Amino acid sequence: MTATCTNLDKPGFVCVKMDMGEEKEVVSLGTLSKKMDDFAKARDWEKYHSPRNLLLAMVGEVGELSEIFQWRGEVERGLPDWKEEDKVHLGEELSDVLLYLVRLSDVCGVDLGKAALRKLELNAIKYPAPKQTDHCVGEHSSDNTKLTEDN
Ligand SMILES: [Mg+2]
Repeated sequence: MTATCTNLDKPGFVCVKMDMGEEKEVVSLGTLSKKMDDFAKARDWEKYHSPRNLLLAMVGEVGELSEIFQWRGEVERGLPDWKEEDKVHLGEELSDVLLYLVRLSDVCGVDLGKAALRKLELNAIKYPAPKQTDHCVGEHSSDNTKLTEDN
């Protein structure tokens, strides 16, 4: 990602210019956080949103997410064989998990976006990418084209 801007036509969305020049509309964690806070306040549910309750609710949603994959065996990336209604259901359960995770982070005072970026950096240090050589690039390229460091 190289740049961001606010999309005035779609509140809550930001457009992000990707490295290859492509623009994508994305929803920020901050937007989700604010909407979850507004949702809870409007229903006077803040008293129920303790860290423990939110964690247990999130774990319950992980169970619902797991049920979607249960008994299907391994599935292909992109889920090409799934019915549209199953993909919609998957999106709903993934959202439930994300929303509880965002809310849990907020009530614990953790900036989830910053924490996640920091964790990615720590993971990169812990699991450094292998230095690509002509030999290993050639072995893993799908078309067997030998790449050089100039590519
Ligand atoms: Mg659910």
